[in-house]
Amino acid sequence: MSILVYVENTDGKFKKSAFEVVSYAKAIADHIHTDLTAISIGQVAADELAKLGNYGATKVLDVNNEQLSTFVNQAYASIIAEAAQHAGASLVVLSNSFSGKGLAPRIATKLRAGLADGALTVPTIEGEKLSVKKTAFSNKAFATLELTSSNKVIALAPNAYEVKEIGGQATVEAFTATIAPTDLSTIVKEIVRATDKVSLPEAEIVVSAGRGLKGPENWGMIEELADVLGAATACSKPVSDAGWRPHAEHVGQTGIVVSPNLYIAVGISGAIQHLAGVSSSKTIVVINKDPEAPFFKVADYGIVGDAFDIVPKLTQALKAYKGL
Ligand SMILES: Cc1cc2nc3c(=O)[nH]c(=O)nc-3n(C[C@H](O)[C@H](O)[C@H](O)COP(=O)(O)OP(=O)(O)OC[C@H]3O[C@@H](n4cnc5c(N)ncnc54)[C@H](O)[C@@H]3O)c2cc1C
Repeated sequence: MSILVYVENTDGKFKKSAFEVVSYAKAIADHIHTDLTAISIGQVAADELAKLGNYGATKVLDVNNEQLSTFVNQAYASIIAEAAQHAGASLVVLSNSFSGKGLAPRIATKLRAGLADGALTVPTIEGEKLSVKKTAFSNKAFATLELTSSNKVIALAPNAYEVKEIGGQATVEAFTATIAPTDLSTIVKEIVRATDKVSLPEAEIVVSAGRGLKGPENWGMIEELADVLGAATACSKPVSDAGWRPHAEHVGQTGIVVSPNLYIAVGISGAIQHLAGVSSSKTIVVINKDPEAPFFKVADYGIVGDAFDIVPKLTQALKAYKGL
């Protein structure tokens, strides 16, 4: 079994999730004693591509195409499936990121492959069978998926696997895939960023606030805390429903699912629908004036008190610690 790993880039730069998937795929490749081939689509400099060797890729297939420098779901899926066949790969690994969620089932369909999306662990391998753990029922349970098909696709949950640098450079090979006109029937012409702040789905630290903040005029202290920490801001659903914050910040079952290293929840009760989107965070800190708030049950650290008192003090302490 040979492995192909798809590495995402934004404006020619690799995201952390790219290094995660290469490290993860390398762990599988080592287990089955095979080489790892990566594929990159868009316009990434050759020296950046070669650096994927530092995470375990031996070779990088470079689809350097200006038309494809922004994500095009159908076209990317066709290219990755064709590259898998070209590389003789029976396992395709990618990130279960926003674009990965659209790509993985399409690639699986094209390769007639079994799919494990949102994988949390390196698979256990018994002959042709791969078993992978993932969360189920909005993070309330774990499921183990067994892939027994000859082709397989695994989409790794962001932040689930540690980036491992091993040194080395990959060889870079130009790859031209056949793209059907229908693959390009919908293309992204331009991306205008709404903010230059840290992107929520990829943030390592998230400062999130709920209805306990009383109104939109009080979000300054949340943004200041987020700025000091280099964090993204988020909110509970009623907050975005009320128009206090943009919908893009709403996390939970019906919003964005995040898994940062640190999630700070301020004035959020911890309803199950909210927890569904945040409970895979590595460390959860809860600030709430009600000691019975359900969020404390899943918190690693809890502060019982008034957010209007605690948040500014926390920000000041962090500024002093960082010498700001
Ligand atoms: C189908 C469905 C889907 C849903 N999807 C989502 C979802 O995706 N995401 C989501 O968030 N919700 C979702 N909800 C709503 C969810 O059930 C809760 O109603 C919501 O999460 C509550 O938001 P909140 O914690 O901000 O507000 P509240 O429940 O009103 O809690 C406010 C909290 O702030 C605390 N507080 C008040 N004042 C202060 C203060 N001065 N200092 C510190 N703490 C204070 C209170 O003690 C309380 O715990 C969904 C609901 C349904 C039915």
